[in-house]
Amino acid sequence: MLTMKRALGFALTVFAALGLMTSPTSAVAQGGAGKTRVLIVTGGHDFEKPQFFKTFDANPDITWKAVEHPNAHALLTPAAAKEWDVLLLYDMHQEISDAAKTDFLARLKEGKGLVVMHHAIANYQAWGEYHKIIGARYYLAKTNVNGIEKARSAYKHDVDIPVKIATPDHPITRGLKDYTIHDETYKWFDIFDGSQPLLRTEEPESSPVIAWAKTYANARVVYLQSGHDHKAYENPNFQTLLRQAINWVARKD
Ligand SMILES: [Zn+2]
Repeated sequence: MLTMKRALGFALTVFAALGLMTSPTSAVAQGGAGKTRVLIVTGGHDFEKPQFFKTFDANPDITWKAVEHPNAHALLTPAAAKEWDVLLLYDMHQEISDAAKTDFLARLKEGKGLVVMHHAIANYQAWGEYHKIIGARYYLAKTNVNGIEKARSAYKHDVDIPVKIATPDHPITRGLKDYTIHDETYKWFDIFDGSQPLLRTEEPESSPVIAWAKTYANARVVYLQSGHDHKAYENPNFQTLLRQAINWVARKD
């Protein structure tokens, strides 16, 4: 949960502007018919780009394009959203205009799917509706909530996390057996009522529930805590989970 340094972000922006980067983050449309079209949003948190996007290249059910903040919100408008079915958030970003909030909520009302992955739980700390959309609130700083002092949420890297399938008959966990993943844990964040737990762990450094499914407006929403780096991306159980999560929010389960 380390915020990308401003200088690095600026350098990447300059490189991108100069056309020196050929990574898929430059919003390159992918081809294919009849597949779920996924818009992947990144920015505000560093990650292993080639390994991350390889996971989506390997998914036969989708096409994808990626966009990085500050360019992401422009793709939430009614016209731009005709180009995608599912929004996948892998960003950690705080600023959002009222217009972008309106677009975000309107897309969920239309029934676009939403998959929120890993550090995207910490997006939009000041936008209460985002917490309701994803079903959780992660605290990047000690926060007073209605008179209750909430500790800063915590994370720990490089943990072998034993994962239990909480709901084996759910389309997202179908076919999966309990497994271990080498990944980052989060704890001391709030999970709200109204979500269906998909994965649990007894790892003490983690919250007990590490994936859940819910609805918001007319949208299906999934949160997957896994996904810090290639050790998680390349775990076949995680790949199945991610693929089935995208299918579920796209109502193709
Ligand atoms: Zn992480």
